[in-house]
Amino acid sequence: MRLTRSQALFETACKVIPGGVNSPVRAFRSVGGTPPFLVRGEGAYLEDVDGNRYIDYVGSWGPMLFGHADPDVVQAVQEAATRSLSFGAPTEIEVRLAELICALVPSIEMVRLVNSGTEATMSAVRLARAYTGRSKIIKFEGHYHGHADFFLIAAGSGALTLGQPNSPGVTPAAAQDTLLARFNDLAHVTQLVEAYADEIAAIILEPVAGNMGCVPPEPGFLEGVRALCDRYGIVLIFDEVMTGFRVARGGAQERYGVRPDLTTLGKIIGGGLPVGAYGGRREIMEWVAPQGPVYQAGTLSGNPLAMHAGYAVLRKIADTPDLYDRLEAFGAALEEGVRANLKALGLELYFTRVGAMATLFFTGERVVDYETARRCDTQRFARYFHAMLEEGIYLPPSQFEAFFFSTAHGERELERTLSAQRRALMRAFSD
Ligand code: PMP
Repeated sequence: MRLTRSQALFETACKVIPGGVNSPVRAFRSVGGTPPFLVRGEGAYLEDVDGNRYIDYVGSWGPMLFGHADPDVVQAVQEAATRSLSFGAPTEIEVRLAELICALVPSIEMVRLVNSGTEATMSAVRLARAYTGRSKIIKFEGHYHGHADFFLIAAGSGALTLGQPNSPGVTPAAAQDTLLARFNDLAHVTQLVEAYADEIAAIILEPVAGNMGCVPPEPGFLEGVRALCDRYGIVLIFDEVMTGFRVARGGAQERYGVRPDLTTLGKIIGGGLPVGAYGGRREIMEWVAPQGPVYQAGTLSGNPLAMHAGYAVLRKIADTPDLYDRLEAFGAALEEGVRANLKALGLELYFTRVGAMATLFFTGERVVDYETARRCDTQRFARYFHAMLEEGIYLPPSQFEAFFFSTAHGERELERTLSAQRRALMRAFSD
């Protein structure tokens, strides 16, 4: 595989953009090598500037539920673009998108649209603090909620990959109101809550963790956290930026039957354009300005391109009855194939999957939290990653990310992926 043009671009990029990228994990720091610079995506496929083609398991980190350049989404954006890119004033499509989100996500009665997942989680926490009159929040080790200061404490994703969970620039004051809990350890959460009972505004979590690899909740864990929040008047925030519309039509809250007070969304609701959202119980959302006193705003919030892209995607989600059955069927076949590969090669690696997100952990142990995730053999993962890339399979360039698939992934892609994986695993373990 040649990456000549990507290499030249990356060298130039490194002179004018920190690390050559606009978001850290893209730089391949944890796996080494040069990231392919992409020019085109179609369905399940990507093409780079050197003409290499890949089957995509990143999907722009989640948004591409229907694959790249889905004709319905592209058409909606093209039509909207001819009528102005932004007004900064109310439009009908914002109302339609908000209605659809409220209809699809069980706990959302009112919703505010923003431009990213980071904005959504940051705003949801401000709202929870205002509503409860308390300051502290509980977050979980290895969970990632965007890059607001008070979340960059033992965060997942790039922060975990780069081994810098506590970023310089985050002041002690910003960090002091963030309490850290262990995912899937209800006893630990209970202890923390009891120790700080009347100071905790919110518990925020990824109901299925995706930013330390895909780590599902243990049975009873989400229900237990819900019960604690009820007992102590704490706002429960599900960060469904990744899981929303991916692990089920109504997100993880529908899949596991647990209702949060607030939900944050992103990725799929923008179909690839910058959109985030936070929403939930009416009584809490009414605190948001201008209806209530909690300030939050955005010049480009609700801009027509992003709204039309998001609406086109959610419309398809609402109107395709067998959508999640199809994703589940692909996921189950992929899972079966991965397990067969591991067995054939005599490898004990831990594989997790929830709906259309999954991770192959390079450890034989069960991964249930940050501690167990961190025991993975990241060097072996890096060898596997590069072997897959050379086989034309584009995976997230880090052990601590979930991979995603779309409705554009079918039989052909499945077979190619599994046979490539057999060879890549053999190469990764050839010593
Ligand atoms: N929350 C979760 C669960 C995420 O996965 C992400 C991004 N990967 C974010 C929040 C932040 O979203 P954004 O990158 O759009 O700011």
